Amino acid sequence: MHPQLKSSASMGKNKNSRTGFPTSPQPEIVEEITHSTHSKHPLKKVDLPDLFTCTGCKEYGSGKRYACQQCDFQLHDFCASLPSLLQNHPLHGQHQLVFHAKPKQANAGISWPKCDVCNKSTKGFTFRCRACSFQMHPCCAKLSTEMNFSVHPHTLKLLPPVNTSSSGSDTGIPCSECKKGRSGRMYRCKVCDYHLHAVCAKDLINGLHDNGIPHPEKPNTVGNTVLIASKVFIKFVGGFIEGAGNGVGEYLVDSITRGRRSRRLRTENN
Ligand SMILES: [Zn+2]
Ligand SMILES: [Zn+2]
Ligand SMILES: [Zn+2]
Ligand SMILES: [Zn+2]
Ligand SMILES: [Zn+2]
Ligand SMILES: [Zn+2]
Repeated sequence: MHPQLKSSASMGKNKNSRTGFPTSPQPEIVEEITHSTHSKHPLKKVDLPDLFTCTGCKEYGSGKRYACQQCDFQLHDFCASLPSLLQNHPLHGQHQLVFHAKPKQANAGISWPKCDVCNKSTKGFTFRCRACSFQMHPCCAKLSTEMNFSVHPHTLKLLPPVNTSSSGSDTGIPCSECKKGRSGRMYRCKVCDYHLHAVCAKDLINGLHDNGIPHPEKPNTVGNTVLIASKVFIKFVGGFIEGAGNGVGEYLVDSITRGRRSRRLRTENN
């Protein structure tokens, strides 16, 4: 087998040249795996700068991933090779954690159970404790009690959990990266007054930060995307009308309402 021949015929390379991604190292490493949750097709290791949702953990990612070349199935590189058990994990050393491919059921069908590290919903791959209710995302399992991140020159230490779990309210300490107060665990610098959310630290692991992608604020659902898109459209049209005075703006509004009216008329006529 010639992995390089296989690489030159792959669609990954075409994509790279089309998007003008010159930093991609030249001979591209071809690595194919078969994952238990997607056994019908092999997954190929690729490194692309776009935002994706991991089919395994349902969280965002960018950069390195394992992708199916035949359907819309992509896994974080770390989600593709998770151990079935975690022993002595720094964030939950007292009990063994078991990998689950399927999430716990949503509470009364309303909200998904939360991760004990980042306080975000767990909708896919999780590590769960058998002895207590602790659970966490695969990405959160990559966090430790003391870490060095590229965004800060000093070692950060994870603060103990704050007891705000039921209300989900934040710790009140603004994070030095996102400048917001958010729930979930938090890191503090041992040297200076720098703070970092665990949830913000995840973007330093999942490739979003490396590829310059800000964390999308809304959950990745079609409904929200449509909502955001229509809001942006309304804002744009509104701004346009304001700026255009009473010439083009009026015509635009007129044609929109007329379009609606004529559609309605047509329906009534039928
Ligand atoms: Zn994942
Ligand atoms: Zn597939
Ligand atoms: Zn988490
Ligand atoms: Zn436990
Ligand atoms: Zn933050
Ligand atoms: Zn510092």
